Amino acid sequence: ANIIRLFNVTKRYGGKLALNNITLDIKPGEFIFISGPSGAGKSTLLKVLYLAERVSEGQILIDGMNLARISSTKLPFLRRRFGMVFQDFKLIPSRTVFENVALVLKVAGEKPSFIKKKVMHVLRVTGMEKKANHLPPTLSGGEQQRVAVARAVVGEPSIILADEPTGSLDRKSAQRVLDLLSGYHQNGATILMASHNTEQMDRFSKGRNISIEDGTLKGISTILC
Ligand code: ADP
Ligand code: ADP
Repeated sequence: ANIIRLFNVTKRYGGKLALNNITLDIKPGEFIFISGPSGAGKSTLLKVLYLAERVSEGQILIDGMNLARISSTKLPFLRRRFGMVFQDFKLIPSRTVFENVALVLKVAGEKPSFIKKKVMHVLRVTGMEKKANHLPPTLSGGEQQRVAVARAVVGEPSIILADEPTGSLDRKSAQRVLDLLSGYHQNGATILMASHNTEQMDRFSKGRNISIEDGTLKGISTILC
C-alpha cells in the first residue's frame, strides 16, 4: 500500500502555475529527495501534502484519506501524521527549547509526566538536552535546527517533511541534521526532503530522487542501497 498518493495534482497561485499535473505514489518507509531550482515548486509540493495549501486540481490521498474531504475537525489529526522541518526553523523565540518541543504533545492532550519524559528523550537523541532551558535565539543555527527536528519527531509522525532543512547551515551542522533524519528513516519514518542542493543529494541519497522544474516532475531515479 502507498502512504502518499498524488493523482494529476496541479496548483496555481492566481495565474502562476506552481505544480503541473503531478502523479506520484510513495510507499511507507521511503526516503524521497526532491530537487530542483529555486521556484520549481518543491515547497508547494510539501505544502499541499499537509494542507498548508489546497490543490487547484487533482487528488491527494494520505493513508487512504482524501485531503479534499478532510473536515476542519479532522484536520488536526491529519497534521499529527506529519512532522515538519523548515529552512528557517520556525521555533517560538520566547519559549524555551523544552517548551517548543513540548507544545506538540500538549496540544495533543498528553499528560505532563509523559510529556517531560518524551521531550527529554528526543532532546537527548538530537544532542540538545543540555540546552533544554535555553531560548532559541541564544542557540546557533545548527542547534536550532536540531531542536526543530526534535519538535518534528516528538509526536511520532509517520511522515517527516523537510523543506531545505540544511539550507542555512554550515556543512558540519548540515551533516548532523541529515544524520538525524537518516536515523528516523531507519526507524521507519517516511521522509520527503526538498533541497536545491544536488551535490548534497548525490552524497546523501537513500532512495528515490525526484526532480521538479517549473512545477513539472522531470525525473525519478532510484538508488539501491
Ligand atoms: P521552491 O520551493 O522550489 O523554491 P515554491 O514552491 O516555493 O518553489 O514556488 C513555486 C512557484 O510558485 C514560484 O514561482 C513561487 O514564486 C510561486 N509561489 C509560491 N508561493 C506563492 C504564493 N503564496 N503566491 C504566489 N506565488 C507563489
Ligand atoms: P520557499 O521556497 O521555502 O517557499 P520562498 O522565499 O519562496 O521560500 O517563500 C516564502 C513565502 O512566500 C512562502 O510562504 C511562499 O508561499 C510565499 N511566496 C513565494 N513566492 C511568492 C510570490 N511570488 N508571491 C507571493 N508569495 C510568495
